[in-house]
Amino acid sequence: EIQLAQRVKALTPSATLAITAKAKQLKAEGHDIIGLGAGEPDFNTPRNIIEAASVSMNEGHTKYTPSAGLAKLIEEIVKKFKADQGIEYKPNEIIVTSGAKHGLYTLFQVLLNKGDEVIIPVPYWVSYPEQVKLADGIPVFVEGLEANDFKITPEQLTAAITEKTRAVIINSPSNPTGMVYTRDELLALGEICLQKNVLIISDEIYEKLVYGENQHVSIAQLSPQLKEQTIIINGVSKSHSMTGWRIGYAAGNSTIINAMTNLASHSTSNPTTTAQYGAIEAYAGPQAPVAEMKEAFEHRLNVIYDQLVAIPGISCIKPQGAFYLYPNVKEAAKLTGYESVDDFVEGLLEEAKVAVVPGSGFGTPDNIRLSYATSLELLEEAVARIHQFVKSKI
Ligand code: PLP
Repeated sequence: EIQLAQRVKALTPSATLAITAKAKQLKAEGHDIIGLGAGEPDFNTPRNIIEAASVSMNEGHTKYTPSAGLAKLIEEIVKKFKADQGIEYKPNEIIVTSGAKHGLYTLFQVLLNKGDEVIIPVPYWVSYPEQVKLADGIPVFVEGLEANDFKITPEQLTAAITEKTRAVIINSPSNPTGMVYTRDELLALGEICLQKNVLIISDEIYEKLVYGENQHVSIAQLSPQLKEQTIIINGVSKSHSMTGWRIGYAAGNSTIINAMTNLASHSTSNPTTTAQYGAIEAYAGPQAPVAEMKEAFEHRLNVIYDQLVAIPGISCIKPQGAFYLYPNVKEAAKLTGYESVDDFVEGLLEEAKVAVVPGSGFGTPDNIRLSYATSLELLEEAVARIHQFVKSKI
């Protein structure tokens, strides 16, 4: 019998996996499945970025770079922070990582000792708790109530902090809810973190996807103290439709960034050189594609939101950012005779041929996550199918 390490045995299998596998199987059997499970933009990476990466390869830039990333890319990231958030980072306060996900992984590895606690607002992106556990840390869940737009309050944060608390994660705009924290909300949470010396991990990967009157604010831009207390995680995956390139970055206190760089030097070394050249172009080149993709997402959201909330038993706070809808379907599940939302999701897949992700995987079992990173035509068809499915059963 193969013996695996305890830390791997303790990993929770991805909740989205079962439904994705089932959707794939049904597709293979010839069923016309519409998948709304995607966690990545459906657009191609902009041409100029692909060209720049290609040119770099042809020019021979195919070797190792410094573990923390190319100086030129770090310089572009420094400029981006200054232009977008007005935050001034020095190059030694930034590390380029193999995707934002590995940036977070590395961060928890250098930050946590056994038993250290990390506060994770619920609903959460699935990898946060697992990564904390992989670093021998303890995830402490704080439920952002739907009545409060799924956001945690200062009172809740204060109540969750113990002597063991090392950090709190803020993900705005949020996956899965699409909610965006306002400046005042961030100030209030930040004040507590400063008082209690809790590090803020600000995952801003959906920064460029914010809609209507809403604005992305980074907690690190609110004061020099908050900048010192925060590690920002960001990347080009969602903003420039570059999920497969695996380029993210972390910015913050140089002692932490330096430790992350040491760890990276013994694990990934540098993120793929060609991808780094692509990322340089992503920031140094024209930004029009970023705005165009955002507009497309916003248009889709505005069209299908009204159609979605017209379905009996489904309510949904209108997302302010990212590319997910996170409706509460508890009532719809009940009306249609399902015991749980998980069962309702299975019914949707088998009968309506629409694949969505059950909220149980994100810590809130009454909701489902629908991604609108697919064509408007398919989205409208999918929502119509869900509507028909519910109507036919009540
Ligand atoms: N953080 C959040 C909230 C995400 O949703 C994702 C991707 O799904 C990531 C981080 C990871 O991004 P990357 O593809 O750069 O690793």
